[in-house]
Amino acid sequence: MPLIVQKFGGSSVADTQKILAAARKAIRAAQAGNQVVVVVSAMGKTTNHLIDLAKELTERPSTREMDMLMSSGEQVTIALMAIALQSLGHKAVSMTAAQIGIKTDNSHMRARIKSISTESIRKALDSGQIVIAAGFQGIDDDGNITTLGRGGSDTSAVALAAALNADQCEIYTDVDGVYTTDPRLLPEARKVAQISYDEMLELASLGAGVMHSRSIEFAKKFGVAVHVRSSFSDTDGSFIVAQPESDAAVSGCAVAKNEARITIVGVPDKPGSAMRIFSKIAEARIPTDMIVQNIGQEGKADMSFTIPQADLIATMDVLQAVCKEIGAERLEHEENVAKVSVVGLGMEQQSGVAQRAFRAISEKGISISMITTSEIRISALVSLEEAASTLRAVHAEFGLHAPPKNPSKNLTAPHKTSAAKNMHPSELDGEMSLARISGMEDIIIENITLDRSQARVTLPQVPDKPGVAAEMFEKIAAAGIVVDMIVQSCGRNGQAMISYTIPRELLEKALDVSQKLVAEWGVAEPRHNPAIAILAVRGTGLRSHTGLAFRMFQTLADAEINVNLVSMSERCMAITVEDSRGDEGLSLLKAEFAKNIM
Ligand code: ADP
Ligand code: ASP
Ligand code: MG
Repeated sequence: MPLIVQKFGGSSVADTQKILAAARKAIRAAQAGNQVVVVVSAMGKTTNHLIDLAKELTERPSTREMDMLMSSGEQVTIALMAIALQSLGHKAVSMTAAQIGIKTDNSHMRARIKSISTESIRKALDSGQIVIAAGFQGIDDDGNITTLGRGGSDTSAVALAAALNADQCEIYTDVDGVYTTDPRLLPEARKVAQISYDEMLELASLGAGVMHSRSIEFAKKFGVAVHVRSSFSDTDGSFIVAQPESDAAVSGCAVAKNEARITIVGVPDKPGSAMRIFSKIAEARIPTDMIVQNIGQEGKADMSFTIPQADLIATMDVLQAVCKEIGAERLEHEENVAKVSVVGLGMEQQSGVAQRAFRAISEKGISISMITTSEIRISALVSLEEAASTLRAVHAEFGLHAPPKNPSKNLTAPHKTSAAKNMHPSELDGEMSLARISGMEDIIIENITLDRSQARVTLPQVPDKPGVAAEMFEKIAAAGIVVDMIVQSCGRNGQAMISYTIPRELLEKALDVSQKLVAEWGVAEPRHNPAIAILAVRGTGLRSHTGLAFRMFQTLADAEINVNLVSMSERCMAITVEDSRGDEGLSLLKAEFAKNIM
């Protein structure tokens, strides 16, 4: 019998009428011949209210008790949903994560799922019941209640779908699908029929709140067919699939408004010190992003990066200690920032996406304070006030408001993809042992590579005003040069630093263009490194698995390998090192991650 997992978010179960409407959807799926597991969130804004209550008592409540508190929201909904189903005449049973056996690690408020036992759910399903599972929660080995992080019910749902080898996972929410950007921010955003796991993961991790990013890691790893759709209608929503039918360079944009920028001023320019800093932050499970450094004066550099605002206090605590240890001068932080990102698999094939984004932003007179790029994303840090206009500018530049040229035809709900076959050999269909899926959220690395074909150019003093990055990369593109990584550091005294990498054979040409530009601007000569090595780790969910960054940075720091540029995305973490250290870096990383490589 086919099995379907249906997840209803907070606004879809905000009152008893909505719970009844959701219950009717579940019954319809059951009557159509499916076994049905319903995953629910807390009602409406319950989780926020619970957090506010704790904050009335203290600024730093213990995380164990926060999990005890927050998980109560979902427990209310599962009971009401079961009562609603029973009142409509269907057999139903509610289950907490402990009753199901959703085991997590013990990191409260951001726990990761280790294993899911399917036994009790299967038993209930086989006896004709609809099973209502509490989203967002788990239990650790000592029986403590844990939660998966805000928005984590999506992850509960997709993980359950993976463990149960479900035919489909439907995410019912208050929008009718995945849009090119948050439709609440830009009304001109357009619903997409299909989007790839990689793009959705990247967008979710960069601020598209429609899905919890970790749920997409599960979907990709286990090949779960995900359908995001409206709770309030029956029309098809968006399918999240392995390979969508699209050739657009950019498929969506996202903005993260709850970001903070940190700058460490005067980091001694010694091998390993930068990586030491990042390994400590990652060890504290804080996801960093947009790491950039300024070539400093007198053997010192400034390092800037972004973190979620919620982690600011914890990050400052960690940094205070590290800065003393390595002899950095001081810490600065800025909360009035937003990260705007454009994401698209097509970027790998099409050049010029970055400069189009920079031009579109600068034409609105907006100044970009930091830039980083990765294979399928470009991110710009701007002031919070300019977040919406930046988003609108890039969204329009890539034509995302217009209907696609080749609309997908006859889309039907996709079922489990080949990835599922990798992860779920057919003999494991049906009852799955706990052992087989233990470590469900463990990191999986596809490969680690060394690229010795690139050179780096750095312009140490670029005027910090709108349009400069656009002008620079337009001129470079006009000379027929394809740029790979781009990093623009945080401006200081009206000047920023921009570094980029290019194929080695194009270095002369790139220097020529760059020299003309600095002459025009009347600033310092470009610097360059004719031979750099790029070490890249590819996999799924790499940025949010802070453990990966920790081990990667720590391994290189221990070997005193100096890192120049860092480029991060959920599917690739790349760093540039001296060419002479490339081979060594590669074998160290391969040894470190030997157990995680697929
Ligand atoms: P739920 O409570 O159902 O989990 P969420 O509030 O977590 O719902 O997610 C749905 C919301 O996500 C939408 O109301 C929308 O404002 C927001 N959102 C952000 N980015 C996107 C996007 N790219 N596509 C659709 N919705 C988005
Ligand atoms: N109730 C939890 C939250 O508000 C989980 C969720 O809604 O996904 O974060
Ligand atoms: Mg949500």
